[in-house]
Amino acid sequence: MTAALEINDLQASVEGNEILRGVDLAVPAGEIHVIMGPNGSGKSTLSHVLTGHPAYEVSGSARLNGTEILTLDIDERSRLGLLQAFQYPTEVPGIRLGDFVREAAEERGLPAEEVETRLAEAADRFGMEPFLDRSLNDDLSGGEKKRSEIFQLSVLDPRLVVLDEIDSGLDIDAVRQVAEAVEAMRGPDVGVLMITHYARILRYLSPDRIHVMLDGRIVESGGPELADELEAGGYEAVRARLGIEAPKKPEPAIPAASEFFTDTPFER
Ligand code: ADP
Ligand code: MG
Repeated sequence: MTAALEINDLQASVEGNEILRGVDLAVPAGEIHVIMGPNGSGKSTLSHVLTGHPAYEVSGSARLNGTEILTLDIDERSRLGLLQAFQYPTEVPGIRLGDFVREAAEERGLPAEEVETRLAEAADRFGMEPFLDRSLNDDLSGGEKKRSEIFQLSVLDPRLVVLDEIDSGLDIDAVRQVAEAVEAMRGPDVGVLMITHYARILRYLSPDRIHVMLDGRIVESGGPELADELEAGGYEAVRARLGIEAPKKPEPAIPAASEFFTDTPFER
C-alpha cells in the first residue's frame, strides 16, 4: 500500500545553508506521526517545503499518495489534499467561518452536498456550531482557534495534515482539548504529521510513531518511550545516546527568518 506521505532523501537549503540534510519519512494513511526536535532543527522548514514555500532550494522526493509533489504549485498540492494548520491563525472580521470553509471546500473540488454533510458532522464532532456564523477566528481564544483549524481541515477531506506546533502558546487544558481534536481527526484516508517541540501534548495523544529530528535529519523513530526519554532527559540525552555531536555553528543573533513566515509562508 502507498503511504499518505513518503519522503525520500529530502534536502533543503536557503542561500547555500543546508537546513534539511536528507530526511526520510513515511506516514501511512490512518496513522498519526509526531516529529519532535529542538529549536532550529528544521521542523518548520520541513512543513514549509512540503506545502511549497518558495524560499527553499529543494531536492529529493516527497510523494502524496504516490504523486510527487515537490514539482507542484502550492494550490495543486492542496487540491490533492495536503493541508496545513497555522500556528497563529489569522483573524478575519467580516468573513464567517461557515462561508469560508464552504468556499475552500468548493476549491478543493468537493460536491456541495458532501460539503454540507461533512460540515455538519465536523461541527458536531469539534463543537464548532456556535462559531459557524461568527467571523473567522475573531475573538476566539488560542485553543478555540486551533480547534477551528482542525475543524476546517476535517471538512476539507484531507489526505495529509501537517500541524506545526499546534500546541504552542496554549495552557494545559487547551493542549488537552487540541490533542483530543487531533485524535478525532484520525481516519482511514488521512495521515497526520504533527510537529512539536514539547512532549507534553503527547500525554493526551496516542501517536503511532514518534520521530526525532536533529540538525535537519530524522535520527531516530520509535514509540511512546521516545517521548518519555525526551521529557526526562531532553534532546541532549538522545544526542548523547546516539553519539551525535552538536553542530559547531554559532547561534544566529537574530531570530530564524522562518519564524516570521509561520502565518504568511508564501510571501516572497
Ligand atoms: P525549527 O522549526 O525546528 O525550530 P526551522 O525549520 O525554523 O527550525 O529552522 C531551521 C534552521 O534553518 C534555523 O537555523 C533557521 O535559522 C534556518 N532557516 C529556516 N528558514 C530560513 C529562511 N527562510 N532563511 C534563512 N534561514 C532559515
Ligand atoms: Mg518551528
